[in-house]
Parts: sequence; C-alpha cells; structure tokens
Amino acid sequence: MPQESRNTGPSVSFEAVSKRYAGGANAVDTVSVTIAAGSFVALVGSSGSGKSTLLKMINRLVEPSSGRVLVNNAPVGEEDAHLLRRRIGYIFQNVGLFPHLTVAENIAIGLRLSGSKDNAARVGDLLDLVDLPRDFASRTPDALSGGQRQRVGVARALATEPGLLIMDEPFGALDPVTRDQLGASIRGLHDRLGLTTIMVTHDMAEALLLADRVLVMDAGRIVADCTPRALIAGEGGAQADALVAVPREQARRLRALEGEA
Ligand code: ADP
Ligand code: MG
Repeated sequence: MPQESRNTGPSVSFEAVSKRYAGGANAVDTVSVTIAAGSFVALVGSSGSGKSTLLKMINRLVEPSSGRVLVNNAPVGEEDAHLLRRRIGYIFQNVGLFPHLTVAENIAIGLRLSGSKDNAARVGDLLDLVDLPRDFASRTPDALSGGQRQRVGVARALATEPGLLIMDEPFGALDPVTRDQLGASIRGLHDRLGLTTIMVTHDMAEALLLADRVLVMDAGRIVADCTPRALIAGEGGAQADALVAVPREQARRLRALEGEA
C-alpha cells in the first residue's frame, strides 16, 4: 500500500509553550523542545505532570495559553483543526471505538470524513498493517480482546496515512504480554512507515525499550531529555534516576531469583 515507502514524518517543535487551565496552576510551564522528523520520543512522568496536556496541544485538543507548537515548522494554530488532525494519528488509552459499529466502520470513520472511496480495500490493508485477520472487519468491538481493540485503534489512527503518530498511554489497560507485543508492533510500524512518533507513558521501562529519546516531565516542565542509553548511565539527573531505578531494581531482583533457581 502507498504507506509502505514514503518520506519521513514531520518534526514537532514547542516554543515556550505554557498551558494554564482556568483556576489551576500551569499544567505545562514554558516548554521548549524540538522533536526531530522520524524520531520515536517517549514522554514520561508521574500522574499530573502535564504529559497529556503537552501532547494534546499538538493536535489542538488543548490550545496553549502562551507560546506555540509547530509541525514541520508550520504553527498548528494557523491551520484548520480538522485538516491538522487528519495528518496526525491519535491513539489514547481507552481506544474509543464505537460499540455499535463494526471494526470496518470504526476504521473507516477517518476515511469517510476525508471523502475517500474504496474503503473496503483500505480497511483490509489497514487490518493487515496491524496484524489482525481481515475477517475481523465485520465484528463489533465487544467480540475482540483488549489488545485486538487497541490494534483497531491503531488502524483507525493510521487510516488517513498521517506522518505523525501521537499516543497517550496507549497500552495502559492491557496485560503485560499484550502490552509488550503491541509496543513492538508500533515500533515496527514507526520504522516501516517512517513515522514521527510521540508516546506518553508512565512506564519508564517501556520508554527505555521503545524510544530513541526520552523526555521526563515534572510539574509541567521537561526535567530530563536523554537517549535511553544516557538515562541508564545516570545522565538524566535526580528525577529521571528515580524513575529508572524502578525497572532496574526489578531486573536486579529477577536476576537474583534466577541465580537461586
Ligand atoms: P498527566 O497526563 O501527566 O497526568 P495532565 O496533562 O493530564 O497530566 O494534567 C496536568 C495538570 O493539569 C494536572 O494538575 C491536572 O489536574 C490539570 N488538568 C488537566 N486537564 C485539565 C482540565 N481540563 N481542566 C483543569 N485542569 C486540568
Ligand atoms: Mg495523562
């Protein structure tokens, strides 16, 4: 399909971006960072640190209080939000499939809105892309496992062939094995399709294993910006070290158990 070989996804830049919700403190506080075209970036931090707010300012589900966001050097605030969202695949934790629509209809929602013909063939291609059997097209979401539903969510997000994929805790509700498989699938799609991918997660191990670069957020600010290798080497500072310590300590205890066995 045409998605298979094409140019790299866009860059994403935040320029002194802040967001203050009515009556609250700054959820995002003067963030400036550029995410390179074609990279896979994880955004990690504890609950309430501002990850979702930062992510949603890319596709304008949240508007910044100050500063601006650029996709491929074009300010997103100057583009029609619907056109913008067609170029950005968005995956979130609870998938948000319509229960009364079939898998095919759920995937085709993005296609229909963009006026595409020949949806059945495209849906088949998209099911292939996310490693689901084509005959799942006629099922409704309640006849799928959680992991399969999230694969449908991925297919829907990629239906309009976006170059940019943004994900907010996409594996949060899944068991560890399914989570691991889906993570590997998404990293594979990122590489094959040449996407730019930004993934919000609270799981540092997942971030270290999937991403090229890890941004750590705390109280609305980016407090570390490192490759996984640098984070493991302790170059991310105290807050990053505290997050890296969790999977490291788990790995150490597992190795100790193996030694005893
Ligand atoms: P995270 O995704 O890291 O958990 P969020 O971006 O959801 O963080 O939230 C950052 C802060 O902004 C939190 O204090 C949260 O309570 C607040 N917040 C998020 N969304 C809203 C909203 N719609 N209205 C008011 N406050 C919000
Ligand atoms: Mg969140």
